[in-house]
Amino acid sequence: MRYFAGIDIGSTAIKIAIIDENRELLGKKISASGSMFYKYAKEALAELLNELNIKEENLVYTVSTGYGRKLFKEANEKISEITANAIGARAAARAEGKKEIKTIINIGGQDSKAISLDSDGNVVNFAMNDRCAAGTGKFLDVVALKLEIGVDELGDYHFKSTGTPLSINSTCAVFAESEIIGLLGNNHSIEDIVAGVHYSIARRIIKLVKRVGIKEAIYFDGGPALNEGLVNAIENELTKEIFIPKYPQITTSFGAAILALESYEYLSNQN
Ligand code: ADP
Repeated sequence: MRYFAGIDIGSTAIKIAIIDENRELLGKKISASGSMFYKYAKEALAELLNELNIKEENLVYTVSTGYGRKLFKEANEKISEITANAIGARAAARAEGKKEIKTIINIGGQDSKAISLDSDGNVVNFAMNDRCAAGTGKFLDVVALKLEIGVDELGDYHFKSTGTPLSINSTCAVFAESEIIGLLGNNHSIEDIVAGVHYSIARRIIKLVKRVGIKEAIYFDGGPALNEGLVNAIENELTKEIFIPKYPQITTSFGAAILALESYEYLSNQN
């Protein structure tokens, strides 16, 4: 059996997906990017192969993507995360029996993107915000840290909020932190602050999506898509249903793994 890997070296997390010749997702790994992207990515891949009992020589093609993709010298190919995201999102939606995706919202650790696809799955347009942390995972990390809760708890707090969500206006994570300190000082609850943060991110994301056009079906991925509170805020602000895949954080690495398989097949047919 031959295996194919997609390695997404993101600003915050390294994501690896391994598939077999039938495009079946066999395993995935998510670990912190830290300060040594290449070293940690190599270690994470070795660990995943070990967990799956796959010998290194049977991993026949690897595609890297994400911020740190150029550092992964063992990769047979390096592709942009926009392309990998589009391929992975489409495949994940199909595998889960969902409608064809036309719009992807991706929120990562340091940036957020809106990608528009045509009916064949080609990327026709995209918009990106990487100038400030507002509307990214980093913003949520800063908020969670200040409120002394985990990012994985934000969703629960969101749904316990009562009343109108508070308005968080700062467009920078540092100023948002001082705004939150002010809200805490005025005796606002953590629940209401969390919901306010989610709605402020949702409004920013929707502005980004409007730049490429809102076409259904809409798909949301990246680590923050694990936050059901944020999903709820985006759906409410958009007044449209959005689809979250089973493993939202690994879609881009899954897309890179599919591309690895396709490149391998193409090259094999050339010989
Ligand atoms: P990148 O590709 O830029 O490294 P990711 O798509 O991996 O980014 O997303 C990282 C972000 O995902 C983190 O900053 C964090 O805010 C968020 N995140 C990670 N795990 C969870 C979780 N279990 N619940 C909610 N948010 C999460």
